Amino acid sequence: MKKISLALLFPVLVSAAFAGPFEQLRRGLELPAVPGPAFSPEAPGHLQGDGRFWVTVAAQDKYDRSALLNAGLDIVETGRYSVSGFISGGELEQLAAKGFQVKSRQSIQDYARQHLKDFPLNDAAYHNYKETTDLLVKLAGENPAETSLFSIGKTTEGRDIWCLRLNPAEKGETPSARPAAFFMGNHHGREHLSNEVSLALARHLLQNKNAPEIRKFLDTLDIYIAPMTNPDGAEYDIATGKYRWHRKNTRVNADQSIGVDLNRNYDSLWCQAGASHYPGSDTYCGPSAFSEPETRAVRDFVLARPNIKTLMSYHSYSSLLLYPWAGKDSPVENERDRKVFEALAKGMTAYTGYTPQQSSDLYVATGDTTDWAYAARGIFSFTTELEGTTFYPGAAMIEKASAKNVKAALYLLGATDDPYKLSR
Ligand SMILES: [Zn+2]
Repeated sequence: MKKISLALLFPVLVSAAFAGPFEQLRRGLELPAVPGPAFSPEAPGHLQGDGRFWVTVAAQDKYDRSALLNAGLDIVETGRYSVSGFISGGELEQLAAKGFQVKSRQSIQDYARQHLKDFPLNDAAYHNYKETTDLLVKLAGENPAETSLFSIGKTTEGRDIWCLRLNPAEKGETPSARPAAFFMGNHHGREHLSNEVSLALARHLLQNKNAPEIRKFLDTLDIYIAPMTNPDGAEYDIATGKYRWHRKNTRVNADQSIGVDLNRNYDSLWCQAGASHYPGSDTYCGPSAFSEPETRAVRDFVLARPNIKTLMSYHSYSSLLLYPWAGKDSPVENERDRKVFEALAKGMTAYTGYTPQQSSDLYVATGDTTDWAYAARGIFSFTTELEGTTFYPGAAMIEKASAKNVKAALYLLGATDDPYKLSR
């Protein structure tokens, strides 16, 4: 990550007029409490009690990576010969005994001290939960003929998981015989960019609703967009005014640690690989499959709509497009389906430039959204790992990532009427 010099940083901080939810984040930067030789933001007291470490561990291939996931490492970055990510102190102590070579380690407090140096300066452009809700209400209000807005369920803390439906013929929870596409963002709290891309898609479709290429989707498809699947986690991540690198939801576990990894909580080979039974782990799979209200909401939503043909779950970051299986090494058994997955992946990545691959080629991890949706309903389900080199890539990334991912989403919509046309 780039370092921003003081000279560059301060004029921006004092001259800009800030508004929006992330303004507190920058207020923190305006008042550096710890003077030192280098610019040092306030000591990350908001991470007090957070026992995680940021580590880099040698890993040669997907088998090493899968084993590391099993050992509790939350892999964030994948290099040729190593991976980096977060791990709890307890699990870190066991890595060496398990034969892993830890190349570097630092406490999350030190990691934050180092990385908050290049804190994004324009994060007011990102939408917190209230702003996301307000924007969805506004879009629905401005487009009453084409849209409806409803909640697919409540979160652990009682927030609504909002879903915007684009379908002029059927509204709210009325069933539809039209082929449906389901887009989701923000399963993981700290992946705020995934909320933005989902919102950008909704706006693009509605701003261009009279253009023939968009109108044909509105007139023939049933489109659902739930930008913030884990609003509790997203809010928790920014609640102190500084980022906390929080991935999970906010269930309080038996050991008082916070959160279950929602993308390991689906009932597809639940917690058999690439997930941790240890509550403090960032990849904690939860006490049982579908133990969390957020994943149950998605499950019930999908099962109630047999017309869903395609699904996209946005995450960040790695510039990847992933498809089943995530939970096993072998490819999708049905050859026709496999062809469709590969063709859709190729088609979408032509717009994003991301790398298309079977999920488990990165590492084997069970219990994710896409494996479950494909196994349960035969839905052509994808995970997009958006681009960037950090969970907090700043405002400029919103437009950059949205522009190409909206095009990829339009490609997916273009195949949603009959994905099997790609296998013929
Ligand atoms: Zn994620």
